[in-house]
Amino acid sequence: MKITWLGQGGFLLESQGQRLCIDPYLSDLVERRQGLTRISSWIPEIADIKAEHYFCTHSHMDHFDPETLPVALEKFPGSKVLGPLSVVGKCAEVGIDGSRVMEVADAYDLGAFKLTLTPAYHSDKASRGVIVEADGIKVYISGDSEYRDSLVADVKKCAGGDLEAVFICINGLFGNMNYEDAARVVKELAPKVVYPMHYGLFAENTIDPQPFVELFAGSAIEAKIMTEGEAFSL
Ligand SMILES: [Zn+2]
Repeated sequence: MKITWLGQGGFLLESQGQRLCIDPYLSDLVERRQGLTRISSWIPEIADIKAEHYFCTHSHMDHFDPETLPVALEKFPGSKVLGPLSVVGKCAEVGIDGSRVMEVADAYDLGAFKLTLTPAYHSDKASRGVIVEADGIKVYISGDSEYRDSLVADVKKCAGGDLEAVFICINGLFGNMNYEDAARVVKELAPKVVYPMHYGLFAENTIDPQPFVELFAGSAIEAKIMTEGEAFSL
């Protein structure tokens, strides 16, 4: 599975010639509407997020971007959006044709990618995380979530087996767990590798990922910092 971090909670996953894009945010809508200053070093272009499927974990603008998704769907005929109920509602609100929106489900078989939605605890109550299975491995992408004692058990149940990698939010603000809680979750999930995410997009909502990485010193779990736009393989 080839993975490119798009910044914040956004990813492009590639496997067997198929592409799955998660939570793409290309516009500066949050800055214009909410005043959060964009600081990311790389902003993907629409061509960079070409995919057959777009999965949005929830309806907030840094995950469901009303100025990105309709443009991508227009540019890439046949592509579809999937996500929880709040995402389906936003699709209707921004005029996305219902035939381009896949029915709400707890699991999706997209061919190269098998998705199992996990619980997430966020101000958008419909928010979900996701287990993505491709090329014989499983990864967990947390989406936006606060810490809960039940989170580890929830995710383990959805994963139904070993996780190769975890991508977890660490910013500790606006309804997201802090880096110490995120590290506790990851240690209990025991993947081979963890990548911190959901930082570095906005000046007012970011954190240095290094202290999170240092919590894994001497652990069997490798903690790695991603570079936006730089693809890597699992
Ligand atoms: Zn977010």
